[in-house]
Amino acid sequence: MPAFALLPAMLTTLAVAGSAAVFPVNRVFCIGRNYRWSQDEAAPTEMPAWFMKPANAVVPAHGGLPYPPGTADFCHEIELVVAIGRGGSDIAATQVEAGHIWAYAAGLDLTRRDLQQQAKRAGGPWEPAKAFDHSAPCTALVPAAVSGHPKTGALWLAVNGVERQRADLSDLLWSVPELVAMLSRSVTLQPGDLIFTGTPAGVGPLQPGDVLTAGIAGIGQLTMTVTPTHSPLSGEIA
Ligand code: MN
Repeated sequence: MPAFALLPAMLTTLAVAGSAAVFPVNRVFCIGRNYRWSQDEAAPTEMPAWFMKPANAVVPAHGGLPYPPGTADFCHEIELVVAIGRGGSDIAATQVEAGHIWAYAAGLDLTRRDLQQQAKRAGGPWEPAKAFDHSAPCTALVPAAVSGHPKTGALWLAVNGVERQRADLSDLLWSVPELVAMLSRSVTLQPGDLIFTGTPAGVGPLQPGDVLTAGIAGIGQLTMTVTPTHSPLSGEIA
């Protein structure tokens, strides 16, 4: 092993429900629109877009959630998160569940919506809108050996006790196996990769002091409080 010129950044990990072991987070893929946001929307004919967040955007989904810098429109998105246990490329959708998915969780794809709208207008990259510190809180992972592969079940999010998002996993436009298969045709998936599978209607802004509660039936629940100041990521030094 070579001598490192710097201390390497710490590996990001997530808790595993019912286990002392932690899950090593590799990469974070996020799926674009994957629920109907209105009854008028036509059924999609093309697979949704995807983008990425850095692994260290993943933080445990409890405690404080720092309001990020550079935005006046910090928005919540509740999403089913899929954790990859075995990687591969050109994975057949029929092989995804038994062969490649290790666990599920509830996650937040937090978004600086004003920067996303600016990026859409300018044709610019989405990273400023999506890939910021603390932008991917995630509950403890529930191994698929425990949860099975959920096809139905409510996902919901409330702010200060007022419900903002509610849908059912059966409302996903493209199924988890279809999404994993799609990604694997584009990149080689690896163990530790997380996939955020898109959010239903009802996304909206958060303010400092807001208490955010959310969950996915049978998978996990979370409570976080938006804190007024941005705090740098901890843990750069081992
Ligand atoms: Mn999203």
